Amino acid sequence: MHCPFCGADDTKVIDSRLVAGGDQVRRRRECASCKDRFTSYEVAELLMPRVIKQDETREPFDEQKLLAGLHRALEKRPVGVEQIEAAVSQIKRFLQSTGEREISSQIIGEKVMEELRKLDDVAYVRFASVYRSFQDLSEFRAELDRLEQETGDTGV
Ligand SMILES: [Zn+2]
Repeated sequence: MHCPFCGADDTKVIDSRLVAGGDQVRRRRECASCKDRFTSYEVAELLMPRVIKQDETREPFDEQKLLAGLHRALEKRPVGVEQIEAAVSQIKRFLQSTGEREISSQIIGEKVMEELRKLDDVAYVRFASVYRSFQDLSEFRAELDRLEQETGDTGV
């Protein structure tokens, strides 16, 4: 890191500690040239990628919108708020872990479906039917059948 006082390239870290409950690293640095000292902070960059919509326009990731979508799918279903919030965290963590700066709404939709499936089958089908906007009823029926079959396989 350049010295902010004289611009020299060579600065060395003389102290390093965790601050903000471990979310930041605070470093004291000393310039090898002018001997001035300064502080730098390091934080993990956990930016949410921007969303590429189907018409190729971009928009910021909107957590409220995601939450609203989940609540809509889970209306009158036996799933608690904490479970929904945990699903939102899972989805956000997944998006951050991709390391992508932009991500298609389709990938997000697939991930949402994956999480909904773990929570509630009915909610999953509700969301999927809207999201995938099934071409016709037979396609929707096929998805339901597939779901029923998979549920059957778990040996309930
Ligand atoms: Zn300096």
